[in-house]
Amino acid sequence: MTIQQNLQRVRDQIERATLKEGRDCQSVNLIAVTKTQPVENIQQVVDEGIVDLGENRVQELLDKVGEVTGQVRWHLIGYLQTNKVRQIVDKVYLIHSLDRWALAEEIDLRARQQGVVCQVLVQVNISGEESKHGISPEQAEDFISRLARLPNLRVCGLMTMAPFYSEPETTRGVFAGLKQLAEGIARLSIPGVSMEWLSMGMSNDYQVAIEEGATMVRIGSDIFNPRF
Ligand SMILES: *Cc1c(COP(=O)(O)O)cnc(C)c1O
Repeated sequence: MTIQQNLQRVRDQIERATLKEGRDCQSVNLIAVTKTQPVENIQQVVDEGIVDLGENRVQELLDKVGEVTGQVRWHLIGYLQTNKVRQIVDKVYLIHSLDRWALAEEIDLRARQQGVVCQVLVQVNISGEESKHGISPEQAEDFISRLARLPNLRVCGLMTMAPFYSEPETTRGVFAGLKQLAEGIARLSIPGVSMEWLSMGMSNDYQVAIEEGATMVRIGSDIFNPRF
């Protein structure tokens, strides 16, 4: 199968999952996760109309930013070291992995110095697995209330990494948990904070994530190296 065919298949699946929930398929943003992919492959998906590209490492993102041609928006989806923020704050459309206060302060500072407002998602560890980054659901309200005071950082929603289960149904509770948390925070109407974007679901489980309310799915292998 070509990358074009893989991508079409993913788009069909997204449409099917949204229809099943009575949602508009435009309500789900497909982020093509391009880590480890050469620029030629990335260019192929951009030429097929993909706008959102996700990388999990800062250096790899920086190496690719100038190489891909077209209207694209880069998403940093992996763990972000505080000392790397300065390099990317004006190059990314959205940081999905804000998981601690020191990182928030650094993003705000560097964004201010570079004259931008940086959009972020707060990463939440819903499953409670020790290996996962992210703040606990119990801390989320307080953390986000504090973030609202940082003028050059804008909270746009939440992100979670679900545990990998071979049976995606097992993950449903994690996605439902993130959605519920986002609804609770939205009800607080914190000034400047939006819960519009829920970034959840990867190749293994994005259909379930969409059924539970994902508005951004991050998909790498099903586009570039499918298992089917
Ligand atoms: C690699 C990665 C993905 C995509 O995973 P696939 O299983 O290849 O679709 C999504 N999110 C993050 C944070 C990743 O690092």
